[in-house]
Amino acid sequence: MSVNIAIDGPAGAGKSTIAKKIAKMLGYIYVDTGAMYRAMALYLLKSDVPVEDGAAISAACQDADISIEYINGEQVVLLNGENVNAYLRTEEVGNMASVSSTNGDVRKKLVQLQQKLAQKADVVMDGRDIGTCVLPNADVKIYLTASSYVRAKRRYEELLSKGETADLEKIEKDIIERDKRDMTREISPLKQAEDAVLVDSSDMTIDEVVSAIVNIIKTKKR
Ligand code: C5P
Repeated sequence: MSVNIAIDGPAGAGKSTIAKKIAKMLGYIYVDTGAMYRAMALYLLKSDVPVEDGAAISAACQDADISIEYINGEQVVLLNGENVNAYLRTEEVGNMASVSSTNGDVRKKLVQLQQKLAQKADVVMDGRDIGTCVLPNADVKIYLTASSYVRAKRRYEELLSKGETADLEKIEKDIIERDKRDMTREISPLKQAEDAVLVDSSDMTIDEVVSAIVNIIKTKKR
């Protein structure tokens, strides 16, 4: 049986950075489920599907073939056969993903893909509903969070370091809005699974979070 580690939490909590490091340390595959929702959003944007038209999203998502591959240990998302990694991290795609991920047909399709991956290999999978819905029997479940201010500040500093301008207050407002959408949606809302361990990274460095989670994994797997 493959080993499954689920890491859930709100946007900007550091899930992907942390999950990637943990997967590398354990020799597991890192599965970034947000990238799959982003690839679906990219397809919907490219197909000019109106964001408010749920029926059109349900129909269009059936034509999007999303799969993933690993090249030099990096997850590559293929959308109808094309590597779309370079287009996934924009605000436009993120905002569309946050809306289109509320659609039940989009979720059904991507959850199936995620479950297949976790059956085949030892994975560290991050997302919003991994411990509650995708992998309810995961060996270890982590709920990683941080205050909205700290998450906004991290994003703000990341943008400044890339030479971009940024507005801290606006970033925090967007984060709060996205949290609300993710936590209040009808299907698979973001919430801590009952058997998940809460890690609040507000006052922790990346290395501190990684070692705290690796310790939790070691204890749970015994
Ligand atoms: O994690 P990331 O910001 O890349 O995710 C993009 C969007 O996809 C999130 O805002 C969330 O709405 C959605 N998502 C989801 N379920 C997951 C992963 C992401 O609904 N398992």
